[in-house]
Amino acid sequence: MKLNDRGLLVVISGPSGVGKGTVRKALFDMKGHNLTYSVSMTTRQMREGERDGVDYYFVSKEDFQQKIKDGKLLEYAEFVGNYYGTPLDKVNEQLDNGNEVVLEIEVEGAQQVKQKMPDCVMIFIVPPGKEALYERLKSRGTESEEVIQKRINKANREFKKAHLYDYIVVNDEVSNAADRIMAIIRAEHAKTERSIHKYMELIGENED
Ligand code: 5GP
Repeated sequence: MKLNDRGLLVVISGPSGVGKGTVRKALFDMKGHNLTYSVSMTTRQMREGERDGVDYYFVSKEDFQQKIKDGKLLEYAEFVGNYYGTPLDKVNEQLDNGNEVVLEIEVEGAQQVKQKMPDCVMIFIVPPGKEALYERLKSRGTESEEVIQKRINKANREFKKAHLYDYIVVNDEVSNAADRIMAIIRAEHAKTERSIHKYMELIGENED
């Protein structure tokens, strides 16, 4: 029985190179959920293998700035020289339809979301150790040495923001990390403050 009409907004962050994208894909591959992924908008260049409208909406800096002006973004931030942001309309539409919406965003944007939608669930993914992170960033082979260094510096600053999140999930194994996130989502749904109103309505009782 479903006790929530509106979906949960799930914000996932973590330092660059922690494997957020891989964990998110494993999460979406799990059965029996109604998760939808919010495709972000970015001004960064498309990487090999990425698809416009699937991984990101790739736009020009001018277009991005126009979206900001028009109030079309739930949040946005600059990350290592590029803009990234979450289109607002789709998020609200999915939540109203009762679907969970997953945002995979960096920490500044996550804080903006928390302010605007305080009932969101904030999850921070961490690596089992810092070395794993640096190795991943270097072996990805998609960025120049300079960009890698900037991302490592950024990751070190991002680590310090973990305390702003509701949950910390260690990505020791991708499937374990995805399992943990699914457990968090299920537990959040069962929280009294999220479900009591609907339950009382169902049994025809008023809350005192
Ligand atoms: P990448 O260039 O590696 O795809 O992403 C760089 C960083 O930007 C990652 O930490 C990613 O989670 C974050 N990011 C992706 N989309 C958004 C977004 O819509 N808003 C914000 N604030 N960060 C995002």
